[in-house]
Amino acid sequence: MRKFVLLDRDGVINRRIADGYVTSWEQFEFLPRALDALKRLADHGYETIVVSNQAGVGKGLLSPEVLEDITRRFVAQVEAHGGRISKVYYCPHRPEDRCRCRKPEVGLLLQAQAEHGFNFADTFLVGDSESDLMAAERVGSPAVLVAAGRVDSTPAAGRSLVGVVESLNDAVGLILSRHPVARAQ
Ligand SMILES: [Mg+2]
Ligand SMILES: [Zn+2]
Repeated sequence: MRKFVLLDRDGVINRRIADGYVTSWEQFEFLPRALDALKRLADHGYETIVVSNQAGVGKGLLSPEVLEDITRRFVAQVEAHGGRISKVYYCPHRPEDRCRCRKPEVGLLLQAQAEHGFNFADTFLVGDSESDLMAAERVGSPAVLVAAGRVDSTPAAGRSLVGVVESLNDAVGLILSRHPVARAQ
């Protein structure tokens, strides 16, 4: 059986820019052990899908082409480290656009599900914000919050939240412990 994990990007894989956006490759900084964590997922047979809000595009702070270039480069680094990212989905819209894909809306998640055919109930979503948790709750995915030392991260814990951890690597440890059948294939 194919196994999937849904990951937010900024604050989970790479360092988030406070009150801003990653607008160039120079600003894309992998978080500690994130590359190891992605390799671990691949080693255990998980297909990793990234689902990320990138309103900086809609605000004109970076072009779709630059976003695509950043994506190509970080996916290549993940692969060079032994990991694998099956697909990256972005919402480029601003909050006021009221689209259906910006988390906590679930449009991107539904698109990923339609294209890969996983069950949400069997698919963990790892995020660092309330909007990630809300989206997970709405589709029925178990959620892991990467809090990374933030003391203000006391989320309105929905039924879907299964753990609060310090890093993606810790999230992967939790996921592997909850999926005992998940062994390297
Ligand atoms: Mg985030
Ligand atoms: Zn959108």
